[in-house]
Amino acid sequence: MIPYGRQDIDETDIAAVVATLRSDFLTQGPALPDFEASLRASTGAEHCIVMNSATSALHAACLALGAGPKSRVWTSPISFVASANCALYCGAVVDFVDIDADTFNMSVAALSDKLASARHAGTLPDIVIPVHMAGRSCDMQAIAELARIYGFKIIEDASHAIGGAYRGTAVGGCRFSEITVFSFHPVKIVTTGEGGAALTNDPDLAEAMIKLRSHGITRAPELLVRQDEGPWAYEQQLLGFNYRMTDIQAALGTSQMARLPMFIDRRRRLAERYDALLADLPLVLPGRDENADSSWHLYIVRVGTDPARRRKIFDALRAAGIGVNVHYMPIYRQPFYEALGFASGYCPQAEQYYAGAISIPMFATLTDQDQDRVVAALERAMAP
Ligand SMILES: *Cc1c(COP(=O)(O)O)cnc(C)c1O
Repeated sequence: MIPYGRQDIDETDIAAVVATLRSDFLTQGPALPDFEASLRASTGAEHCIVMNSATSALHAACLALGAGPKSRVWTSPISFVASANCALYCGAVVDFVDIDADTFNMSVAALSDKLASARHAGTLPDIVIPVHMAGRSCDMQAIAELARIYGFKIIEDASHAIGGAYRGTAVGGCRFSEITVFSFHPVKIVTTGEGGAALTNDPDLAEAMIKLRSHGITRAPELLVRQDEGPWAYEQQLLGFNYRMTDIQAALGTSQMARLPMFIDRRRRLAERYDALLADLPLVLPGRDENADSSWHLYIVRVGTDPARRRKIFDALRAAGIGVNVHYMPIYRQPFYEALGFASGYCPQAEQYYAGAISIPMFATLTDQDQDRVVAALERAMAP
């Protein structure tokens, strides 16, 4: 089976992990700040807080921005459930903004309309979480302009988008947001096994997320409330978690970051090759955006809007050994979210997208030959 996504682990990665295993620190050692430095260098963000998953980073980001039981958080329905769950962890109310039919990202027009109605109803959001679907940045400049008008904070869920760029700067630099989150799950572009990161240019948010990562505890002498307890002193100042990443994972992350440009380059070439090889099939291929340079986490084709036809093509591809997938069923159609009161049909563009989407294999170690196999299987699956 050719999977839809796969990690790229080489001998330098393995050597980096082994060196950490032989070192004094398996966690809370020097590998963690090294990994954070490499993420700051590659994004231009001033602060980076690496955690044990993007889910943890999203939760800490929401809390750092003050999310609580009276808050409202809006996100995109076409995302992994973690983009919405993070708000519920804080006791906040979550809602969904429909997507743009061409980019699969949160629609700026839909957001703008929903904000105008929410202002009348007195239900404006405190936080909006745009998701850079498949690695292509949302229209952050337009969303940031709406944030200025309506007074919400922005967390970019860039789990798909490390290595991507928007308007000439790296995704993660937080030029148009308070916080950006990355995931290092093995299907993502850079992996640490499990892992995530929150990036920000705001020192207070950084300090809050550092505390939240480790039980709400600080040891920094200048942050202690009581100054005279003794050299052993640490203080728990808020209720945090154990969201720490191990040094074993961080060492893998730093080693992977050295190859990020190569990963992106290979994914871009594969995307261009798919574009050319699939041009004559009756498919809607991923579009291009002059402002957003995709990291190509996923290559999503759409086979129309008939779910039965999508199912037939999907099954034929799986039967041919092509590990296709679907990203994603609208989050609000999950049983858990339906139990909260959401019903199918809530975001029509998201539903239409979902009915016809198939993610075909896209990862740095996919060979041209295997890509040709995917294309041939797709041609056969689509034959009338
Ligand atoms: C993978 C993913 C997450 C969660 O990442 P983890 O590191 O597995 O917690 C969140 N949002 C999106 C869009 C993702 O793809």
